[in-house]
Amino acid sequence: MNILLIGAGVSGLTTALALRRAGFGVTIVAEQFAPHVTSVVAGALWEWPPAVCGTLDDSEALARSKRWAASSYQHFEELARDPATGVWMRRACFYFDHPLTPGSPDRQKMDEARTLVRELTHDASLIEENGISPAAGMRDAYRYLAPMVDTDTYLAWLLDECIRLGVAVVKASVSGPLHEGALLRTFHASLLVNCAGLGARALTGDDVIPLRGALIRVRNDGVAMPRIEAAHVVGHPDGSAGQEIIFIVPRGRDQLVLGGLAEPDRWELDLALDTHPPVRAMLDRCIAFMPALAHAEIDAAEPVRTGLRPFRRRNVRVDHQPGTRTLHNYGHGGAGVTLSWGCAEEVVRLAEGLL
Ligand SMILES: Cc1cc2nc3c(=O)[nH]c(=O)nc-3n(C[C@H](O)[C@H](O)[C@H](O)COP(=O)(O)OP(=O)(O)OC[C@H]3O[C@@H](n4cnc5c(N)ncnc54)[C@H](O)[C@@H]3O)c2cc1C
Repeated sequence: MNILLIGAGVSGLTTALALRRAGFGVTIVAEQFAPHVTSVVAGALWEWPPAVCGTLDDSEALARSKRWAASSYQHFEELARDPATGVWMRRACFYFDHPLTPGSPDRQKMDEARTLVRELTHDASLIEENGISPAAGMRDAYRYLAPMVDTDTYLAWLLDECIRLGVAVVKASVSGPLHEGALLRTFHASLLVNCAGLGARALTGDDVIPLRGALIRVRNDGVAMPRIEAAHVVGHPDGSAGQEIIFIVPRGRDQLVLGGLAEPDRWELDLALDTHPPVRAMLDRCIAFMPALAHAEIDAAEPVRTGLRPFRRRNVRVDHQPGTRTLHNYGHGGAGVTLSWGCAEEVVRLAEGLL
């Protein structure tokens, strides 16, 4: 059974790999590959949903995201045993400007995460221990062991693994709207899987918009400042995506990324510290929060990475489009890495049901 899959970001490659491992023949068609995909820009911290960069008001959608995230956690934990994958398990600390009182939403989120993640500790003394400025006004904190993905290494590993297992790869653009009949005939496939991220907007006409983000890249080799070994994160006060997010995440062996920015419906990618004030403000915010970063040396070769999160107002779409031979897996917003393995497994179940 051959499957044609559109997209070579983290969603497409993970889904292709999961389908191939389940015994399907798979051809990936993608307009762009790493490093020219949003997935390479990602932080890429695994987070228990909803992520700091996004809310989910729909309880059913939130429950699905939690199942997907839980499955991904287990996959990433396994992958982290092999350094070639670029996946690391590290401590991630989450800070709050209020105590996490029993019954509060933040406390509930922490208690849920506790059932899944490893080494969860709830302790306000993490604030002082981790050198967070008292002026930041943090009152409570917890930490757990979380997957953090060096996306440059991981996307290359995913593609290599697909090819090693016999997935065919074609660099081409599919024009919208999707005409599954012609595509399936051209590629001798029985099923189409759409993992086009923001490209799904043109392919399906769905309401997927960019939620622009940017990360500042600094050296984390212990020379200019003490090496930062854990992630440090503060969400938006009311849980929505906004500009107050603090996102400090180690990447690979000697890099650190600083964020975050969440600008809805903005498409331009050419943002620099000196030309886009919100990027400079993001750096200043991180330094004010963790003063040790004042000495950080910014990566001169690539100071800022910008990407467009594929945000779908009606939440992530993983489904079979009724009356067609098309499955969808797109619209992951700020959580595409976190959800990748769970969504891929759901696509495999849907494909097995159809074929
Ligand atoms: C600054 C920033 C920080 C982030 N941090 C995190 C984080 O910490 N944790 C996390 O989980 N997520 C994070 N994300 C979100 C994550 O990057 C996305 O959710 C994820 O990359 C989406 O992956 P994707 O494979 O669906 O899309 P993409 O990576 O955009 O891939 C889409 C693929 O589809 C192809 N395509 C599109 N249209 C067509 C077409 N018409 N024909 C052929 N091919 C097509 C593209 O060429 C590409 O190959 C972050 C994002 C940003 C921007």
